Amino acid sequence: MMKNTMKRELVPCEVCGYPVVRYEYGVCMKCDSCGWESGGENDKFEKEYHISYPMMVPLSRAREQYKQGIPFKATFEDFINGLSFYSEVAFTFGKINYGVCFRQDHSVLFYGDDAVKAYPTKDDFYAHAEIGGRLLKDIWDEVEAPRFM
Ligand SMILES: [Zn+2]
Repeated sequence: MMKNTMKRELVPCEVCGYPVVRYEYGVCMKCDSCGWESGGENDKFEKEYHISYPMMVPLSRAREQYKQGIPFKATFEDFINGLSFYSEVAFTFGKINYGVCFRQDHSVLFYGDDAVKAYPTKDDFYAHAEIGGRLLKDIWDEVEAPRFM
């Protein structure tokens, strides 16, 4: 018989306080009550990187969204911070999945529909990225599931 040596304990969800199972090593917790997922260090991630992992939304804003009864969703600024943290991020818009990643020289590639676009910096991507002639920062409300790749 296989012996399960991985330790587990119940801890309160970072967002809603519902008990979630935390494993000893590196497995993300998922809250059955509010849907929040966490590696357990999102206070630190927010302080250092202004994001959470793997949900991307900083923990303090996630708590606000939970209180307001709205789904967890990263802002465009969070998304850019996520890009800085992880180098590969994605979102869905109009049923199409888009990807954004850093190249080695820290220019940004943006791909998903028909063409790949390149931007010299993440600030340039933030200011000028567009889909169908509409700036991404102006249509962020319609963007779904901003996420790490
Ligand atoms: Zn929760």
